Amino acid sequence: MSDSVRAVQIRDCVLGGQELVVMAGPCSIESRAQIFQAAEVVAASGGRFLRGGAFKVRTSPTAFQGLGWDGWKLLREAADAHGLLTVSEVLDEEQIEGARRYVDVAQIGSRNMQNVPLLRALGRSRLPVLLKRGFGCTIDEWIHAAEYVLREGNDAVVMCERGIRTFETATRFTLDVAAVPIAKARLGLPVVVDPSHAAGKRDWVESLTLSGVACGADGLLIETHPDPAQALSDGPQAVALSDFPALVAKARRVAEALGRAIPLREPAAA
Ligand code: PEP
Ligand code: MN
Repeated sequence: MSDSVRAVQIRDCVLGGQELVVMAGPCSIESRAQIFQAAEVVAASGGRFLRGGAFKVRTSPTAFQGLGWDGWKLLREAADAHGLLTVSEVLDEEQIEGARRYVDVAQIGSRNMQNVPLLRALGRSRLPVLLKRGFGCTIDEWIHAAEYVLREGNDAVVMCERGIRTFETATRFTLDVAAVPIAKARLGLPVVVDPSHAAGKRDWVESLTLSGVACGADGLLIETHPDPAQALSDGPQAVALSDFPALVAKARRVAEALGRAIPLREPAAA
């Protein structure tokens, strides 16, 4: 399937090639210790990107809103220390210029997928974009959102299926695995699967991860935390860091069965 996709290069990492790119880290950057611990385990497991939100969109305005710019500084430091790239949500146009220093891929959150001014601004910025699917949006609407970014001249767009809202309540959202081959075929862009927000509960993250790989995902975006019970956001769906290497190892076996790879890399020089 990957041959029908135009690869997107982000620094030294290619999405949509043979490598299946693992992006992982906590939902929110909470402290130096937390993000550095995550970076160490993500890198040692074969991850390429460290994820972590600094500007959080929460359902309740009283919930933890993230560390803001201080969070992004920590994300960059931890990623650099372990040879990782960074992915983090950019909430509005004003953040884009500043984000360049800290964020290698700007995540557009599910709730912002149809924020046309933000899509256009990121298109003009040429900052690589990870476009999450709106949880109430069709594949067509998601593809049109990508076109807003592309039309401004930014070709570095990676799609992310993160689950949609259905009548089902056993999971937080319903992972639409069909969206992976459909978006790849229709748009010719790499697609990443986020099993964490779809599952909503860590028990189901592994199965959804493997199903995403089997459906041809070019990458995975997984939430992992040193101590999920203490996480300030999305703790129930976070895989403990201690369980993360085994999860990636399973994904690697499925990927390899399909001719893809999740290579292990040399540790970054200390
Ligand atoms: C996230 O990645 O932490 C996040 C908020 O995702 P989404 O926009 O898919 O809900
Ligand atoms: Mn989250």
